[in-house]
Amino acid sequence: MSFVLERLRELLQLFFPETCEVCGKALRYGEHLLCTDCLLDIPQIYLHNKERNPVEKMFAGQVQFERATAFFNYQKHNNYAHLIHKLKYQGRDDIGIWLGEMFGVKLQDSGFLDGIDAIVPIPLHPKRQRKRGYNQSQMIAEGIANITKTPIITDAVIRKIYTNTQTRKNKEERAENVQGIFEVIDNKVLENKHILILDDVITTGATCVSCAETILQNSNVKYVSFASIALAN
Ligand SMILES: [Zn+2]
Repeated sequence: MSFVLERLRELLQLFFPETCEVCGKALRYGEHLLCTDCLLDIPQIYLHNKERNPVEKMFAGQVQFERATAFFNYQKHNNYAHLIHKLKYQGRDDIGIWLGEMFGVKLQDSGFLDGIDAIVPIPLHPKRQRKRGYNQSQMIAEGIANITKTPIITDAVIRKIYTNTQTRKNKEERAENVQGIFEVIDNKVLENKHILILDDVITTGATCVSCAETILQNSNVKYVSFASIALAN
């Protein structure tokens, strides 16, 4: 950025300060999206490559998979839930990319991505994607790929059935609600690959499991693994 533009940005920031997406405080110069305090306090899970971590435990016995991880703990009334809410309901795809980049660094440093050939973001139903304007999981995938260069596959699996929100459903109802909603439309691109299925929030894992089952049953994929920005508990 040129000197003049940079000074102009500083001036604008003075009169119209950007605020932290988590706590709402005015950001200081050099801060981006989150203030330094909130950035340092992200309730990270630090579980990449730790065997039998809580995410892996959740998927165990539900479907065959290689490994699973998540970036931070999600609690409905915690301020960090704002990040997910803005990403999903307020058109803030930039937050998805930013979270993906943060997560990408962790995934890369921990070796979690070693051997993983491509990311498949959980597809949205076309109707929902049109309404939202983007697929939030794909935004996260793009952020990860900015760091790791992992290819993203968005045209092999579709969501063919529109489902209502899972939020008020229990574990059994969630699993039933998402059964058979995905379809593999291009087997070739998945063939012999280790695929990372990526979601925004994992609660019971039902959506990821359903997507994985469809991929495992209808393609010659080698392995599937799971990752999510947030683990709800
Ligand atoms: Zn803050």
